[in-house]
Amino acid sequence: MAPAIDPTMDSNEFRKHGHSLVEWMAEYLDSVESFPVKAGVEPKDILNNLPVAPPEKGEPFERIFDDFKSIVLPGVTHWQHPSFFAYFPANSSPPSILAEMLTACLGLQCMSWVTSPAATELEERMMEWLGAMLQLPKEFTGVIQDTASTATLCALLSARERASGFQVNELGLPRDQLFTTYCSTQAHSSVEKAVKIAGLGRRLAGGRRPLCVVAAIGTTSSTAIDPLKEIAAICRRHRVWLHVDAAFAGTAAILPELRWMLNGVEDADSLVFNPHKWMFTNFDCSAYFVKDKESLVRTFEILPEFLRTPADGRVNNYRDWGIQLGRRFRALKLWFVIRSYGVNGLQQLIRKHIGIAQQLAKWISSSDDFELLAPVPLNTLCFRYRPSGTQATEDLNPINEALLQRLNATGRIYLTHTKLAGAYALRMAIGQTTVEERHVRSAWELIQSTARSSREPP
Ligand SMILES: *Cc1c(COP(=O)(O)O)cnc(C)c1O
Repeated sequence: MAPAIDPTMDSNEFRKHGHSLVEWMAEYLDSVESFPVKAGVEPKDILNNLPVAPPEKGEPFERIFDDFKSIVLPGVTHWQHPSFFAYFPANSSPPSILAEMLTACLGLQCMSWVTSPAATELEERMMEWLGAMLQLPKEFTGVIQDTASTATLCALLSARERASGFQVNELGLPRDQLFTTYCSTQAHSSVEKAVKIAGLGRRLAGGRRPLCVVAAIGTTSSTAIDPLKEIAAICRRHRVWLHVDAAFAGTAAILPELRWMLNGVEDADSLVFNPHKWMFTNFDCSAYFVKDKESLVRTFEILPEFLRTPADGRVNNYRDWGIQLGRRFRALKLWFVIRSYGVNGLQQLIRKHIGIAQQLAKWISSSDDFELLAPVPLNTLCFRYRPSGTQATEDLNPINEALLQRLNATGRIYLTHTKLAGAYALRMAIGQTTVEERHVRSAWELIQSTARSSREPP
């Protein structure tokens, strides 16, 4: 008897399943609003539905895809739901999804120019486009990193090497020369993580040499904007590396009316922003710009014999511009997105999101029993319920914490929270690709009715 052939996929099967997957994806994007935004599962619900051991024999694609629908889908939080207001968005768009499909199909490894010249050169041009969209000075050169966390680590390592005359790479950190990094209390946790990884020590102490300042343009809690020009002047005076973390808000700087946020960037050393948050480009895609490209490349360059090529010196080998050797072809989705929308189209959508957020800010300010807890310069609101007669933060905090749980349990919206000066705040970021004012209006109605009804005993 002939041995049974395991059902792997030939190109006809691939074509068939590919078409039906695209159908499913289009349907999903059209109907994502009908799903509960936040996964309602308990820990291990999904795990317990997955076989403990891998299958010995191949399985047909239909069965795998059925399990995707019945096991995986109920356990996902729908990040592309228009009423997803949690964290920051990781929005996407049809052209970006199509580019990701092509990226997966080509399956490139973009470590060096020679491993795919088009990927390297498209990345170079896309970073020029993004730099122009942000009106960055010409001296900035860009490279795509996976995340802002990685970009910030690259900035700290480059700062460390430049300040030490590239000696820490050679000899390790000297005992008699300790460095320190400055940022505000609202800086993203990735700064602290980078300080730890870079061997700088996160416990601040006097007597250390200032190495780097990280300015936040759009903090994660409330999109607060550090005064870049003033900070840059101090950094310049003391020859300290200035890294600008605009991971989320950088996208808004493509609007002429908001470009002021980056005033002073001409005196910064590096900047990161994430097209994968608010610029309709699938995660992951983080744009890192650096003024002194040499310090970046000198920090990371390693040239073992097997990586040497005749083109070195004339081309960008992006493996030397960051931590990873292997790199995904991320420039393609940027190219598809920027060309599909055009800069004007991107600007219009970002402007629309900010407009909706400003509308909600007005509704909250004019309400008797809600209050904003921070200014709303962009699209992110921090606010709380404050029923009449309750004033003290220690009383309001548990009320708002319970309100958030109730709201998210409805499955109709998803918000997260933050604490600002001890006050528990509901936090709502409005940047979904398909969000409309009607979504935010009904979210606001739900928030008010849930808050007011929660005052009565359940
Ligand atoms: C989201 C965010 C980060 C981290 O971004 P990743 O790309 O997930 O590493 C860093 N800084 C700020 C201000 C952010 O909002």
